[in-house]
Amino acid sequence: MIIVLKPDTTEKQREHVLDYIKDFGLKAHVSEGAYRTVIGLIGDESVLQSVPLEALPGVESVMPILKPFKLASREFHAEDKIVFARGVPIGGPHVAIMAGPCAVETREYLDVIARAVKAAGAAILRGGAFKPRSSPYSFQGLGEEGLKMLRETGDALDMPVVTEVMDTRQVDTVARYADILQVGARNMQNFDLLREVGKAGKPVLLKRGLSATIEEFLLSAEYILSEGNPNVILCERGIRTFENSTRNTFDVSAVPNIQSECHLPVVVDPSHAAGRRDLVVPLARAGIAAGAAGVLVDVHCEPEKAKCDGPQALLPPAFADMVRELGLIANVVGRSIVRGPVQDSKSRSVPKHPTRAPKPAE
Ligand code: PEP
Ligand code: MN
Repeated sequence: MIIVLKPDTTEKQREHVLDYIKDFGLKAHVSEGAYRTVIGLIGDESVLQSVPLEALPGVESVMPILKPFKLASREFHAEDKIVFARGVPIGGPHVAIMAGPCAVETREYLDVIARAVKAAGAAILRGGAFKPRSSPYSFQGLGEEGLKMLRETGDALDMPVVTEVMDTRQVDTVARYADILQVGARNMQNFDLLREVGKAGKPVLLKRGLSATIEEFLLSAEYILSEGNPNVILCERGIRTFENSTRNTFDVSAVPNIQSECHLPVVVDPSHAAGRRDLVVPLARAGIAAGAAGVLVDVHCEPEKAKCDGPQALLPPAFADMVRELGLIANVVGRSIVRGPVQDSKSRSVPKHPTRAPKPAE
């Protein structure tokens, strides 16, 4: 259920509504929009059955949320959410390029790749230190050593860093180094992990599970939101289908489909979707054209030597060409690529579909 407050509600009235709800043992989540404030109630709402909430001073209306996900829904938060990572915005009119090696391997590789992606226009550096590998005999990542390298490189280039956390026991450590905690596809329904990253105080990039429906995906986001963390970025990274010429099938429809009912930014990962270098650029183009808030792309300067996912890594020159193209496509759909931190480093919102495509010059 949501409680919509009147535009002129005073601070005192608002506090009174919040205290009133808490007395019934319900959790209240407040969404401050540009036009209205909404309070989302989580818990056993049946206790409110005969309670006239509409009669409370400052309350405009009370509405049920019929969807299974509540805090992720547009009913709770109508405007596009913009998540900030060290001042870099993801969502709304901004398109953020997140790029780097699949795994942090050596300081030298990381340095060369990070410089290349930054020069090409990436705002956020990616790199796995804890790697979820199908085989226990494959390279598992450098662990904390890799996190340190990622942090140092990110700091040197003024780039926020995103890296995966695989287990509840790693959350504190990863959160010490990372700006965005990545929950991988294989962990999308690791509910304990979702709760822990929800408490970690850092933005979370949640990847869609290998065979997760959109509803399951959004319910997983709901776990994080319900712990009080509103800064969730969703990532479409391909789903398992009968098709085996690609690693996964890139579900481009997920982008507008999610956006129609959820306010969280949706980014795409064409690298893990395709598993093939030759498909990464066209899929990235499609994702941005469909309205994605960013792309997450594997880049490597010597992919033939990469310890993880070399066949899908773009070489730096191809990556730079791709970013130029994505910039043009983003402009067509009323967005633009963000190159680095912007002034306002706090999370804030802008109206849904805030910017239209620029009018052609007279
Ligand atoms: C990754 O981004 O490094 C990764 C392992 O992706 P996914 O969880 O989507 O397979
Ligand atoms: Mn990978």
